[in-house]
Amino acid sequence: MSKRIYIFDTTLRDGEQSPGISLNVNEKLKIATQLCELGVDIIEAGFPIASKGDFEGVKAVAKNIRNSTIAALARTTKQDIDRAWEAILSAEQPRIHTFIATSDIHMKYKLKMNPEDVLAKAVEMVSYTRKLCPEVEFSPEDATRTNPEFLYRVIESVINAGARVINIPDTVGYLTPSEFGRLIHDIRNNVSNIDKAVISVHCHNDLGMAVANSLSAIENGAEQVECTINGLGERAGNAALEEVVMAIKTRNDHFNTAIRIVTEKLYRTSSMVSFATGVQVQPNKAIVGANAFAHESGIHQHGMMSNCETYEIMTPESIGLKKSQMVLGKHSGRHAFEEKLKELGYSNLEQEEVNKAFQLFKDLADKKKYIMDRDIEALVTQESSKVSETYKLEYFQTSSGSGITSTSTVKVSSGDCAGEEAACGDGPVDATFNAIDRAIGMTVELEEYSIKASTGGNDALGEVTVKISKDSVKAVGYGVSTNIIEASAKAYINAINNMVSRLNEPNKKGRVAFKLARNYNYFGAGDGERWGLELP
Ligand SMILES: [Zn+2]
Repeated sequence: MSKRIYIFDTTLRDGEQSPGISLNVNEKLKIATQLCELGVDIIEAGFPIASKGDFEGVKAVAKNIRNSTIAALARTTKQDIDRAWEAILSAEQPRIHTFIATSDIHMKYKLKMNPEDVLAKAVEMVSYTRKLCPEVEFSPEDATRTNPEFLYRVIESVINAGARVINIPDTVGYLTPSEFGRLIHDIRNNVSNIDKAVISVHCHNDLGMAVANSLSAIENGAEQVECTINGLGERAGNAALEEVVMAIKTRNDHFNTAIRIVTEKLYRTSSMVSFATGVQVQPNKAIVGANAFAHESGIHQHGMMSNCETYEIMTPESIGLKKSQMVLGKHSGRHAFEEKLKELGYSNLEQEEVNKAFQLFKDLADKKKYIMDRDIEALVTQESSKVSETYKLEYFQTSSGSGITSTSTVKVSSGDCAGEEAACGDGPVDATFNAIDRAIGMTVELEEYSIKASTGGNDALGEVTVKISKDSVKAVGYGVSTNIIEASAKAYINAINNMVSRLNEPNKKGRVAFKLARNYNYFGAGDGERWGLELP
């Protein structure tokens, strides 16, 4: 019988620590729901002590997700562990993942502790955790630069203290696949009670070896792989879940292992995470990149037409990509639209989201002859990325051309009030953003702006993603339209709404107060402190 490999996804914890990524509770819950449907065994939902928002995110995931173990990260301190337990105690299968660094360099410079104290602390806190939570995972941080004899002692001691999963992190992404495989092999041969625990690995991609290292660990007896969707994570990221999974599946002749992942949901999960984080997937990315299954060269195409296996080691369908691309048009009804949504993997949409997406689809069908899968994904993403709409774009008008200053007029409403403002800018998009800033009465930093066409053709939808920040709070926004200025304005307002909802979460760093626009009284807000929020 083939050995079972457990997939531990840390998109919501390590992935969320990527530069520029910040997910709100709602986004975390949506991603966790999708990870659960994908068949992820363990979802690491966050680091509850880090912030109130992180705590609330983990708590919401623990409360709502069934069929996956929910893990929370904690340092080896009572405060961290208590907070982690408080966040996950309502989970069906809770797990606390606690860690302390064991390499000389980390112990000396970061922890300022000697090895014996580190060992004692690890043991004490693992047994403390074990009294609260039935499942304890322990990580010796920077394991790959830890003195092996010390590493074996730590592992043996924490297993005796009650740890049931031992995670070996290549924290700095330093080892080569053969070295990492050898380390796992040595741990199995030198830790006397290792058969009482599952060996897990957590590889970083600083030298592009995270997936290879994880697979090498599997060859040497590791049974759990920690990874993230699209390889997100600190610095160069973690091992990409989709690559680890498809390598195991496609080369089952070699690995001879079983996994629970429903690979047909990989593509959908990847795009959902990409939209929520605003981090786009590079076109040549293995498995989920736009070109991963594209065959451009004539020789390849000829071979593919005769027999797919000439150049294809796995099918697009196996990750949930459909071959049929042309779908709906003006005369397609609601039933066909809903069927299409199901086919594209949108099985957990609220009825209201479906209604709105259908309306947008009908509007689009008046402008665009053939509506492709990608267009529908864009519309649904726009609808589901909407948080409560504090601000709504009523209309915009721009004027621009060569040799003249671009100007834009916008009308933005909030509840039953509305304000209108005009502004100049460096091009029509900049002018529109400036006018929106004025109407709303706050200035945010535009950190990133990207635009792409949803499909080929002159009537393609323009998809705009913007990232904004104010003080240290970041937000992503997304908008689509056949008019790129409109798509940009929608994305910008969506990002601002996301930011406002984020600030309304009972959490986050620093006190942020939005001033209201000059004429805000006429919006009906009154006291000028409407967005003044107390933040720890
Ligand atoms: Zn990590």
